[in-house]
Amino acid sequence: MNGLMQQRQLLISDLIEHAASNHSDQEIVSNLGDGNFHRYTWSAARRRSKQVANLIQSLGVSAGQRVATLAWNTHRHLELYYGVAGTGAVLTTVNPRLFAEQIVYILNHSGSTHVFFDVNLARLVAEIAPQCPHIQGFIALCEADQMPDMVVPGLACYESLMAGCSDVYTWPQLDENSASSMCYTSGTTGKPKGVLYSHRSTVLHAMSTCMADSFAISARDSFLLIVPMFHVNGWGVPYSSAMAGAKLVLPGSQLSGENVYSMLRDEKCTVSCGVPTVWMSLLEYAESVDSEQRRRDIVVTRVLSGGSAAPRRIIEKFEEYFGAYLCQAWGMTETSPVVTVNIPLPTHNDLTLDERFDLQMLAGRSLPGTEIAIFDDEGNRLPHDGHTTGQLKVRGPWIARAYYNHEDDAWDANDWFATGDMATLNADGYLKITDRAKDVIKSGGEWISSLDLESVALSHPAIEEAAVIGLRHSHWQERPLLIVVKRKGMDVTADEMLDHMRNNVAKWWLPDDVVFVDSLPHTATGKLYKVPLRKQFESFRFSTDVENA
Ligand code: AMP
Repeated sequence: MNGLMQQRQLLISDLIEHAASNHSDQEIVSNLGDGNFHRYTWSAARRRSKQVANLIQSLGVSAGQRVATLAWNTHRHLELYYGVAGTGAVLTTVNPRLFAEQIVYILNHSGSTHVFFDVNLARLVAEIAPQCPHIQGFIALCEADQMPDMVVPGLACYESLMAGCSDVYTWPQLDENSASSMCYTSGTTGKPKGVLYSHRSTVLHAMSTCMADSFAISARDSFLLIVPMFHVNGWGVPYSSAMAGAKLVLPGSQLSGENVYSMLRDEKCTVSCGVPTVWMSLLEYAESVDSEQRRRDIVVTRVLSGGSAAPRRIIEKFEEYFGAYLCQAWGMTETSPVVTVNIPLPTHNDLTLDERFDLQMLAGRSLPGTEIAIFDDEGNRLPHDGHTTGQLKVRGPWIARAYYNHEDDAWDANDWFATGDMATLNADGYLKITDRAKDVIKSGGEWISSLDLESVALSHPAIEEAAVIGLRHSHWQERPLLIVVKRKGMDVTADEMLDHMRNNVAKWWLPDDVVFVDSLPHTATGKLYKVPLRKQFESFRFSTDVENA
C-alpha cells in the first residue's frame, strides 16, 4: 500500500524561491576586492537568477547541457548556481588553482559549451581557450567597463548580457533525479573524475547540513562561506543558507588572515567553514589583535573545518581567542561532501576542556541518511572499537554511484563506496581518519598513522607544517620520515623534535629521522601533496637502517 502523500520533486529552484519568499530582506554580501563590497538580498538574488536562466537560454543552452564556471565566491557565482541548475542545465564548477592541463581536461571531458569566468582569471582563460574547441562562449563576470582585453571565442560581458534579460521566468518542474551540478576530484593521481550531483541529492544534503546536530544553520546566522564555490559546491552552503534563510557572506578571492578577520567582524558572522590552512592564517592575524578586542570583534560561535585534519592547536586557539567551537566535518567530492560532523553527545556534558579538545580532534558522526563502516582487505566489516583501522566505506542518497563517463571499481554490489581513506570508528560512531590508504605506513606488518604523527609534530610550538611519509627500510619494510617546516623566527633541532615525539607517541611509531625543509608541496585544494615528497626522498636512507652501516 502506498502512502497518500504528494509526489512533489525536490528541486534547487525551490530553495531560492523559499529564501526569497520567506527571508526576502536577508542579505548576501560579496567582497569584490579593492575594498568594494556588493550587497543585495535573497529576493534580489532570485530575480537575478531568473535573469541568468533567460540569459543561458538565449545562448542556446538547453536542459542537460553543461555550463562551466571559473569563479570565486561572489553573488554572481551564486546566481549561476541557481540560474543554471534551475533550468535543468548542469553547472560545472572548475577549480582555477588546478594545472592548466587539468582545467582543459575538465572542460573538454564535461562537454561544457560556455564558461563564466572572473576577470582576474582572464590570463588563465586566454591560455586554455585554444585547447577547448567546443566552447562557444566565454562570459566575463564583470561590468562593461571592466572587460578584459583578450581574444577568445564568444567573449561577452555578463552584466551587459544580464541587462538585456528579463527577470520573469518560470522554473520548470524537473525530475528531481536530473543532474544539477558537477565537480571534479582534484586528481592528485590520474585524471580528475567528474561527480554529477542531482537536484534530489543536493536538496537532501542541504537539509541534513541545516540540522541542529550538523552545521545547525538558521535564519539567525550570518555565514561566511570561505570554502570555494568551485570545491564540492562550497560544501552545499549556497543551498543550505537559502534553505535556512541565513545571511550569506562571500569573500571573493580575499582569503588572507586579515581579510577573513575583517569579514567575520564587519558582517557579524556567527558561523564559517573552511580548511585548516585558512584557519591558521586567520589565527596568525588574530594573534596580533588585543585579546579583549578579539572577543568584542568576533561573535562567531562555531567554525566548520574539513578537507584535512585540524591540528589541535587550531582547536584550542579558536576557544581561547573567540570562545568558538571548532567543529570538524568529513567528506569528499564524491559525497556532496558532508557525511560526518563532530557535535558532542549528552555523555560529553562533563568533559574537561582538555577532554573536549580530544573529542574535537575526531571527524564526527554520520548524518542521518548516510552510513559509514570500516572494512578489511577481504571486505569484512571491522569492529567500531576506536582502535581497529580499516578502509572507510560510505553509502547514502547524496553519495555518488558512479563517475561521469569514467569506469571505476570503487563501488561494490551493496552500494558501498570505497573512499580511499583509512579510519577508526569508536563505539559512539565517531570517525577518525588515520590516513589516505596510499599514505599509510606499514612497519613490520603493523600500520602507523601518518596523520597522527603529523598532528603530534604540529603540537610543537616551533613547527609550522609537518608531513610524514613511509620510506623503505631493510628490516621493517617501511619506517616513517618526519619532514617539517619551522615557524618563522623559531628554532628546533632534530633531536629536540624526536624527544617531543617520543613523549607523545608509541615507541615503535617514532619517526626514524627528521628532515627540515623551507616549504611543503600542496594540491590545488590546499592539502599536503605527498606524491612529489615521496619522489624527492626516494633515495633517502634512514640512519637507523643497518643496510646503510
Ligand atoms: P576532496 O574530495 O578534495 O574534498 O578530498 C576529500 C578527502 O579529504 C577525504 O577523502 C579525506 O582524505 C580528506 N578529509 C576531508 N575531511 C577530513 C577531516 N576532517 N580529517 C581528515 N581528512 C579529511
